Order: sequence, then structure tokens, then C-alpha cells
Amino acid sequence: MAPRFEADMWLRRALALILVLQVLPAAVAPPSSSVGPELVYECLVKDDGSANVSAVFRDLREAGTGALWLMVPRNESYFLTTLSSENLLQQQVGPAFTPSGGEYTFYSNLTISYSSPFELSIGWNMTYAALIAEPYAIFFSPAIGYPPGINAKLIVELPSSTTAAFEFSHSPVMRSGNTLVFEPIPHDRVAIAFQVSGSLDAALLESAHFKFRVPKRYEHIGRRIADFYENVTRVLDGVFNTTLAEVRVEFFVPSTLADLPIGGFVPITSAYRLGTIYLNIFYVRTERGYMEAIAAHELIHHYLATSGVSPDVLWFHEGMANYVGIKVSELSGMGGASLAEDLIEEASLIENASLPFVFLWKVDRYVEGYSPYQHYAAAYRIVATIGESLSTSEDELLPGITFFSSLFTNMRQHSVKVTGNDQIGRLIYATANFSKDTFALLTSLGLRVRPVLIELEGIEPVSVLDFGSLVARMMYPILEGPITSAIEIAASEDLSRALMIMTEADNFLANFGASLLVLLFLSGLALLANVRRGEELPPPP
Ligand SMILES: [Zn+2]
Repeated sequence: MAPRFEADMWLRRALALILVLQVLPAAVAPPSSSVGPELVYECLVKDDGSANVSAVFRDLREAGTGALWLMVPRNESYFLTTLSSENLLQQQVGPAFTPSGGEYTFYSNLTISYSSPFELSIGWNMTYAALIAEPYAIFFSPAIGYPPGINAKLIVELPSSTTAAFEFSHSPVMRSGNTLVFEPIPHDRVAIAFQVSGSLDAALLESAHFKFRVPKRYEHIGRRIADFYENVTRVLDGVFNTTLAEVRVEFFVPSTLADLPIGGFVPITSAYRLGTIYLNIFYVRTERGYMEAIAAHELIHHYLATSGVSPDVLWFHEGMANYVGIKVSELSGMGGASLAEDLIEEASLIENASLPFVFLWKVDRYVEGYSPYQHYAAAYRIVATIGESLSTSEDELLPGITFFSSLFTNMRQHSVKVTGNDQIGRLIYATANFSKDTFALLTSLGLRVRPVLIELEGIEPVSVLDFGSLVARMMYPILEGPITSAIEIAASEDLSRALMIMTEADNFLANFGASLLVLLFLSGLALLANVRRGEELPPPP
């Protein structure tokens, strides 16, 4: 498989269940029967992936009272019928919460009290119960929730076009043809990877900068993302100071449940060229703006590559793709905002001093000891920290965006290609007009800026602010420390420490080569040089 950028962090919260992959057991047991209250969910999936969903609750015990809560679609587009309406004592609809306290986006909590015998039926239509791009299809159940003590089951009838159902989360307890019976776990989803007959009927949508190839049944979603792309292109062209040549985009349905969390990916065709953007159509099941955040993320990989940032600097690619991508997705909805919260929260659990692990992240190779999600979180945090430290009052989209825009202008003007971590550090330092604070920040992150290389690479500061000579400004952050140390050490006559610092200064000088910078540096360190030659130390001040 060609190397590719994967947005595999998506749905960190919702898809933990997918890790529990199971296959159909050889022997299946019939569903247990019970005289207590029972709840039967049924999903009848049609060939287009939509489904009729029903939840039937029965408590046939004589002369009792009971209470029940269920999750129902939030938009109230469900219908509710009871066997005898006078047995329904009370009903109330409120927000539905996950066990960890998050609020469901698409579901409400319907709480009722009743006198038995009692029977309740709730039904609704689900447009995207299964996502289908022939031959691949994924069924993902509606949110299921009910109080303990109820015997529940979920019956899924896959479309008549089904040729094979091969992966389940969780295992069905019974199967007959395309009908599968599950014992659901409250708040957990049931997912099925299956295949269907027929060939993909695709539509080609062309806009000014994009060519979308999408299954016809999702043409309207293709148009939604195409419109979003045209809108954000106007913003991103300004940020990256470049325009993209025609970009191809396709929707896909994962062939396995393990691939469900992948929001999208872009094959890397060569150092600075990327291929078709693939977007997981499954994410149409998320809040508006979420799929756009994924789409923007993948598009920004294209902008970065076109600007000359190699995929070798992966943390910068992924950090920028999320930092900028999530923000521009807000143009079409706030679904992406939760992603930023998740990344910030995850990054806050990583020790500051450990963040630089992410500099070792390579395409197809995570750093041992850290989860994939921690890589994205650390990259986001570092890019956001740099952006925030260099924010100006001109920033409209997000902190530091004017700075990053200058950085890409700088790269373009000097035909700079960025292939290494330290190199992006130098570029940031130069674009920040050799700011002492930026040098300190980059150094604290573990980037070796080595300013002399900036001159060799031909990068120049963007600002024309008069800040003394360029050389002096470059040297200042480095000179200040050694000179101060030298004075202090000379004062305390600690020769061995002075020698140690001189060795460091020597190493530093070794990187400079013969240039005006060296002369300046040497004169600045004349005091240290005296110490090193073992000459008489100057008297303490
Ligand atoms: Zn990515």
C-alpha cells in the first residue's frame, strides 16, 4: 500500500466498541425468553441503506406499575403507539447522556411510567442506517439505551442485496439468512461489515477546483462537501499563499470494521504531491461540521505539500491540518469543535517535556509508547502553542494565522522546501523576525534552530521593522546566555565550569563556518576565549 496520511483519530469517543471485533460463533443459542419486561429493537435495512427502526416494549405482568426510559431520535420524528393509552401514566422527553456524561447529539431520553399490562411501540426512519458503496457496506445501529432488568434484543435484517456479512461488533446470538439477532449492550452500538451485489453507480461532480466521484445515492452529500471546499479554498488560498491545481475527491465505505475510525486519507504520490482525497462516508452520521473538519484536514495536507512541506515533517503536517482544518470547518457547523476539545484534553495529559516525542513520528510509523491519538494531540498542541505565541491583532481565523501565512510566503519567495524538524524550527524563527522568545520556545520544544543555517538556506525575516542589524538580531538570543555565563564564571573564578561552557561555545562555533557571523561571535566571546587559554582571569567587578 502506498504511504498515506491517515486521519485515524476520528471518533475516539464513539467507536471504542469497534475494538471488540468478533466473528459469528459456530453454534448459536436461541434468544432467552423471559416473563419480565422485554424490549425488542428491529432494524429493517433497505437496499439504499435506509431502515425502518422500531422499538417494542412489553410488560405483560398483571396489575403493576413500572417505569422505562429509551433513546428516541432528537428531532421527534418518531411515532409512538400504546396498546391502551390509559395505561401510559406519564411521559417526558429530555436530553440523553452517555455513561461518561456527554450529551447525545441525535437522541433524546424518553422517560415514561405505566401501569401493566403495558405495550409500547416506537418507530422511526433512519436514512443512513447502513452506508453502502458497492461492494462494501457497513451497518451501524441507532443508539440503544434502556434501564437494567429488561430482557432486550436487537434484530437486524440486512438488505436483500447482501451477499456476505462477515464482521460483527458484537456477535449475533442467532442468524438466519440476512436476519441477525443481537443481545445489545446499553449505550453500545452494534456494527456489521457486509458486502452487497451490484456495481457502484457513481456521479462525477465538478467544481472550480475539485472533481468529486461519489456514489449517486450520496450525491447531495458530495455537493455539500464540494460547496464547503470551494468556500474554504478562498480562505486557505490566502493562508498558504498558493492555489491548488485540480484536486480529486472520493467517498469510500470501509471494507472492515477496523477501518471505520479512519475519517479520510490521502496517498502520498511523491515528496510534494498528493493523490486523491478519500473521505469516509460513514461520518455523515455525525454532527454537521464534523465531516467538514475531516475534509478540511485532508485538503490542508494538499496545501502543505504544494507549499513545500514534506510529509517527513509529519507532526507539522498533522498539527496544521487539525489546527487550521477544524477551525475552517466551523464555516459549516460546529461538529468539528468537539475534535479540538478532545485534542486539547488528550494533549493536557502528556507531560510538557514529553511532547517532542512527536518529532519522531513518521508516515506509517508511530512512536513507541504513545497511542496514535496522542501523536495527533501532541502535534496539535505544539502548532497551537507556536500559533498562540505569535498571535497578532490581525489574526481573524485563529491565533497565529497571520504568522503562519507569512511563513508560507517566506517559503514561496525563497523556494524553500521543508524536509526536517529543525528546518521548520529555523523557518519559524526567521519568520518570527528572530524573536528571542520564539527561539526560547522552539529550543524548549527540543528543536535545534542553529541560526547560521537560516542564512545558508536563504530565508529572510518577513518584517522590515528596524531591529538593529540582522546579524545582531540573529545572534542575540545565543550570545546573551554565554556572555552572561562567562562574566559570572569569571567573577566566581570557577575555571572548570568556564571551560565546560567554552566547549559548548566551541561546538556552537563549529556550526558557523567562516563568515562575518563568526567574527562577530568571536569578538562577543573574547572574554570566554581568555578563560579558555588559561590566561589570568580579570578581577571580580
Ligand atoms: Zn492527516
